[in-house]
Amino acid sequence: MRATSVKSETSVNESAETLRLALPLMTRNEIPVTPENYAIWFHYVANDRPGLKKYIDELLEKQTKFTPELNESIHQQFLSDGDLVQIEQVRRSIASALAEATTALRQSGSAAGRYSEILVNFDRSSGSAESLDDIYRLLHSVLEETQQMQKSMEQLQQEFIAKSEDMDKLKKELEQVRKQASTDALTGLYNRSTFFNSMEEIEAAAGSTTNPYCVVMIDIDNFKRVNDTFGHLVGDKVIRFVADSLRQSIKGQDCAARFGGEEYAMLLPETRLKDAVTLCNKIRRNIALANLVRSGTKEPIGQITISVGVAENHPGESRMDLMARADEALYRSKQDGRNRVSAAED
Ligand code: GH3
Ligand code: MG
Ligand code: MG
Repeated sequence: MRATSVKSETSVNESAETLRLALPLMTRNEIPVTPENYAIWFHYVANDRPGLKKYIDELLEKQTKFTPELNESIHQQFLSDGDLVQIEQVRRSIASALAEATTALRQSGSAAGRYSEILVNFDRSSGSAESLDDIYRLLHSVLEETQQMQKSMEQLQQEFIAKSEDMDKLKKELEQVRKQASTDALTGLYNRSTFFNSMEEIEAAAGSTTNPYCVVMIDIDNFKRVNDTFGHLVGDKVIRFVADSLRQSIKGQDCAARFGGEEYAMLLPETRLKDAVTLCNKIRRNIALANLVRSGTKEPIGQITISVGVAENHPGESRMDLMARADEALYRSKQDGRNRVSAAED
């Protein structure tokens, strides 16, 4: 008999459902899957053998152990050999359950492929099965295969989880390394090379749109005095304080970097010289007005001031030329007495 013959879809689905319900019950009550036992539990679930369901329910109620003797006695009492589930019905119900399982597994790639293979084999072998015994033997091997496959799938899943955790860790490490490589460790501002990269990008964009942008060079005034009077640790704190002031004053695409020592640079895209000077004066004033004290003793550190040089790009001007003009403006601020902002001449 072939799977395509005789039974209607409904009865196949019902058989599959009965099978699905019977097998877990058998497992739970530690009943070996033999043809006789399967027949008992199939009919128990189907509830189509007079007295069988009530009898088993009572045994379950009393938590009676299903010994081989008891199983045999139930079988003799309620089911004769002729009453055993039809081969075709069982075969089709198993095939249908397997088909469902295959559909569910389809998403899991190769495993589904293997399961389909098991299903086809079952279909082929069970088609020529002569007896229920043959069918149960096949069912047994299918169940074993399924268990093994489940194990290897769980293992695969765990490996997959471990792999994706590894990937996550690597990604985070990579981000960390990238961040470290692009920022200054003391202040968290961008470093010199990131600043030049940003300049390159802005230069390229400005070249095509002739957008103005400004470069700002900043140097803390008389910084040696801070170091000499209070030591390098306080000096570092002052460097961080100026960095924070810059960071808090810029927005959007603006970029602030520490060039090294107590020197900084800023990049202000789409900004005219006049506006850049206004912004720099605001920053300069805020820094000069801060009352910095030592954290423990509250001893005043004294006024901290910065000198600033600002330059706006000329169309077609190279980055280095623009930087040099900003640097010259900074030098002028120092010459003119410090704590001031100078704009580079055109
Ligand atoms: P000027 O107004 O002319 O800029 O005077 P200045 O004292 O600031 O002179 P200069 O720029 O030449 O001196 C910078 C000093 O900054 C020299 C160096 O010892 C110190 N310095 C450089 N890097 C660091 C750092 O990372 N931490 C600390 N605490 N000091 C640094
Ligand atoms: Mg300096
Ligand atoms: Mg200085």
